[in-house]
Parts: sequence; structure tokens; C-alpha cells
Amino acid sequence: MARLPAGVRVERIYLDHNATTPLDPRVLEAMRPWLESRFGNASSLHWFGQGARAAVEDARVQVAALIGAAPAEIVFTSGGTEADNLALQGAAAAAPGSRRRVLVSAVEHPAVLGTARALRAQGFVGETVRVTAEGRLDENDLRTRLDETCALVSVMLANNETGVLQPVAEAAAWARTRGALVHCDAVQAVGKVPVNVDALGCDLLSVSGHKIYGPQGVGALYVRRGTPMRALLHGGSQERNRRAGTENVAGAVGLGAAAELARGLLAFEPARLAALRDRLEERLLTLPDARINGRGPRLPGTTNVSFGTRDAVPLLMALDLAGVAVSTGAACAAGAPEPSHVLLAMGLDRDVVQASLRFSLGRGTTAEEIDRAADLVVQAAERLRLSSRQR
Ligand code: PLP
Repeated sequence: MARLPAGVRVERIYLDHNATTPLDPRVLEAMRPWLESRFGNASSLHWFGQGARAAVEDARVQVAALIGAAPAEIVFTSGGTEADNLALQGAAAAAPGSRRRVLVSAVEHPAVLGTARALRAQGFVGETVRVTAEGRLDENDLRTRLDETCALVSVMLANNETGVLQPVAEAAAWARTRGALVHCDAVQAVGKVPVNVDALGCDLLSVSGHKIYGPQGVGALYVRRGTPMRALLHGGSQERNRRAGTENVAGAVGLGAAAELARGLLAFEPARLAALRDRLEERLLTLPDARINGRGPRLPGTTNVSFGTRDAVPLLMALDLAGVAVSTGAACAAGAPEPSHVLLAMGLDRDVVQASLRFSLGRGTTAEEIDRAADLVVQAAERLRLSSRQR
């Protein structure tokens, strides 16, 4: 990434909250005892173990409350990626032999798309369901593909690149009529919009700690009571035999604390972020060739903007030098030469896809930051256009 000359300092503005969020200091305080003085194996029968067990179970209650689940339906994992892997692989492995198809939307995160692909080795057929030009699941395509040979349907709640909210409840209702299980990757939605597993009608739902101001490397999978699912990790009987391995006590406590804080902020933070996002978009759209990618209901703090047909990486680097952190799309794909599979699936031209940047706002984002970031983007975009014209 671009380097500043020695001695030059800039005020940094972080607009990449969909990649990761800073740890909330209150979350750190909740975790601190389990990183410093307190310890114990949550499976041990003595006082040390009982303390750890109680901390993990309290955290389970907090995570369950954020998504309207029962605590026993929460399985702690090492993050969203493991939750997605466990959902798809675990449900597929437990499916009857007559159900060998797995349907996933074309705009899923690589954690879902890659797992669906990997299931081929176990004799499954992974199929991608189309999305509309707005970036929303094509419900007709899903309905056409769904039948009694489908084991599982996986549809994310909010797309990480465009923020577009997906019709999960509608997809789940259709999947149920065909007896297929439903997984929802809600990693980008949880804590940003209200999420309720019963309202969605899903059987499995993925959560990640570091997207909600919790620690990296911890997440959870909601598994509806009675859902057939095989474990991926074998060993001890932790997590009711659904995920072997000594519990990450500090991580679980952090995820629980982050979930509780997020629940408390849902009443007003989404509206604040939506107003800031709209303010940013209004300013960016003063550039003659800027356009928003993704339409309809979206996450409040996310926007994906293409700047004509120029490669957006020089713009991203100019912004980084000026102190503004944004992304070309999914963090996991950043640096990789391939253009965004999400924007391509929406039917955008390759050069428009390459010209796109994602701005994702968060709790620390202020109106002043948005105004300053917008000025810097407009200036940098105009400057780069000028220099490419002169070439
Ligand atoms: N699913 C979505 C939609 C994501 O945005 C991400 C992370 O970017 C993941 C899954 C993976 O989560 P984790 O980073 O916790 O493995």
C-alpha cells in the first residue's frame, strides 16, 4: 500500500468497517479478566473450570438474544468462515442420499461459495442462483431450481460488497415447501439491522465477532433445534458435540459482550449511519461518471460506487495517502487481481467493476469525517481523471 514520506502525519478516516471493526473498549474490559488473571478449562469440574463454563454460557445467552434464538442453539466457532463451513458441510453430510444439490446465491461470500465448490468432492452439486441487476437474489431462478433433490439453500442476509439486503425469509419459505434446509450468512447484517431467526425461517445462521466490534477469530453458528448436522471437528464433546475443542473463553466472552452492545444500539445507530451514507453518496454523485452499485433495501452504512471506467486501485491508493481507508470490495479478495464476483454477477461491465470502491461506515464515523472523506474522494477522482487524460 502507498507509503507516506517520513515525518508526514495525516488524520486517518476509517471507512472499511465491513472488512473489520475496531474492538469496542467495553468488549475489551469484559474479556480482560480471561486474558489476565482468570483462566480455566470450561470442561473442568473444579472452581476454575466452573468459572470459565459460566462465562461461556453467559456469552451464549447474549449472542442468542441478538438473533432471537435459544442459547442451546448457539455453537461457538473460530469466526464467520468456520460457521459457514460447518453449516454447509455439516448439513450436507447429514442430508438423505436423495438430496445431493446445494443452492447458493451468486453473490455469497467466498466462505460459502468455496465450501459449495468443495462439496463436489463429496458427490454434491453446488449451483449458483442468479441475482438481479440491483444485486438482489432472483427469486424466480431460485423457485425454478428448487425441488426435492436439494439438501440446502444458502442465502446471505446482507451482501458485504454492496450492502444489498436479500429476501431470505421469502427464499426460506420456498425452500421449506421442498424440504430443503436453509442457511443464512448473516455476518454483515447482525448488529447492523434487526435479525430474528424465526422471522427469517432459517435453520442455520452465521455470525462473526469482528464485524460487530468484537474480537477477530471468534464467531457462532445458530443451529435450529432438531436440525440434522454433522460436526466438522472431532474430539471432545464440547458445544454439544457440534464443535470439538477447548472453548475460546475470552473470545466467547468478547462476542457475547459485543452482541449485547450491538443489541442496545439497534434502536438508533442504523438511522444515524443511513443518514451519513446518504450524505456521502450525495457528494460522490456530483462526479459526472459516479454511480451506485446495488439498489433497494441495503445496510445502512454501506455503499459501493463506481467511478466511470477507470481502475479504482490508484484512487484507493491516493485516498490511503490522504488518510482515507476504503476497499475495492471484499477484504479477502483485496490484492487479488480478479474483479468482484458480486458486481459481475449483477451484470456490470468488467471495466465498471474494476472502477468500483466500497465505503463502509461504522460507530466511530462522524459527519465531519464524511464531509472530509467526500472532498478527498472528489478531489482525487478529478485529479486522476485529469492525469489519465493528459497521458
Ligand atoms: N461472510 C461474510 C458475508 C463476510 O463478509 C465475511 C468476512 O468478511 C465472512 C463471512 C467471513 O467471516 P470471518 O472473517 O469471521 O471468517
